[in-house]
Amino acid sequence: MSNNIRVGILGATGAVGQRFVELLQGHPWFTVTALAASERSAGKPYAEAATWRLDTPMPESVKGQVVQPCVPGLPCDLVFSGLDSSVAGPIENTFASAGYAVISNSKNHRMDQDVPLVIPEVNPDHTAIIPHQQKQRGFDRGFIATNPNCSTIGLTLALKPLADHFGLRTVMVTTMQALSGAGYPGVPSLEILDNVLPYIDDEEDKMERESLKLLGVCDGTGFKPASMAISAQCNRVHVQDGHMECVSVALEKRADTQDVIEVLRSFTALPQELDLPFAPRRPIIVRDEPDRPQPRFDRNVEQGMAVSVGRVRPCPVLDFKCVILSHNTIRGAAGAAILNAELLQAQGYLKRDR
Ligand code: NAP
Repeated sequence: MSNNIRVGILGATGAVGQRFVELLQGHPWFTVTALAASERSAGKPYAEAATWRLDTPMPESVKGQVVQPCVPGLPCDLVFSGLDSSVAGPIENTFASAGYAVISNSKNHRMDQDVPLVIPEVNPDHTAIIPHQQKQRGFDRGFIATNPNCSTIGLTLALKPLADHFGLRTVMVTTMQALSGAGYPGVPSLEILDNVLPYIDDEEDKMERESLKLLGVCDGTGFKPASMAISAQCNRVHVQDGHMECVSVALEKRADTQDVIEVLRSFTALPQELDLPFAPRRPIIVRDEPDRPQPRFDRNVEQGMAVSVGRVRPCPVLDFKCVILSHNTIRGAAGAAILNAELLQAQGYLKRDR
């Protein structure tokens, strides 16, 4: 399919920005032609501006690229945004207004009534709101599309086939979220060593609101949220990468544990059908062992783009319960945005040669 779409990264020096740099190396369609961050970094070569914190080495091709300020004029067709949420809202709007496709990880526009919040396996049709957004905001060819919060992605991806087959009545979720989800330097070591923090700012609200938008309906001019009841409790734990979630679910239709497992295991969706480069072959991996998934062993399955589900069993209060694990900075952030961009390209929303 298409190649040579020039992409920029806003917030390229941050935790999510570095994942974008890493994951976009060798991408068959996208070439990184611009790196941008704050005034603190602008003007410096990337190798000097970014303190690289990933396990893989910094790619040679970006080391000498000079970091630009986050203002339109960047030599690219679309921008991925890993900007700090204190600044992302207006900067993303300015880029969309200047004609860029903005594919964002930040929370600022996720719940806007004219902005798609997308997981390509869950609600690829929600991108149909884009022409309405462009009309409403006076954007010519630019637009904003977002991916959900890292903990919402794992949950909602695993819930999607169950929503389709059985309907969802109630979802109760308790998370154990990795430290990398808080960016760098994140949580002070003396707060998290030998400890669990039972509070992550705004996280429970995000999980509850975003999952309803994702599983809801887009009519081309707005969104009708799904009607299930959902309650989230979010905790920070002493794990580097990989968000784990203990989930109990009540379904609309009766299903036994084997039915649930079968529906999860056989799930594929549009990204797999379109064979998008970042689509995992199997979006949901069901584990049969009693002690899996575990962050250290399972977060990188399918290059970090699949969700692992284990311990599927009856729940004495609701219908069944299980454990979900997903990589928070790959499937939950940069990888999610790249898959969104691939979907938008396949759907014809990306324009070249601005
Ligand atoms: P981070 O490590 O703190 O990086 C923030 C980035 O924003 C840096 O590149 C920083 O540039 C840039 N920035 C800060 N102030 C700026 C300004 N005034 N103008 C332009 N650029 C500015 O944060 P992160 O963990 O990567 O998170 C980035 C976003 O993704 C957040 O909105 C976060 O909520 C979201 N997110 C994170 C995760 C995760 O797992 N970490 C998952 C999903 C979503 P400098 O280096 O120059 O300061």
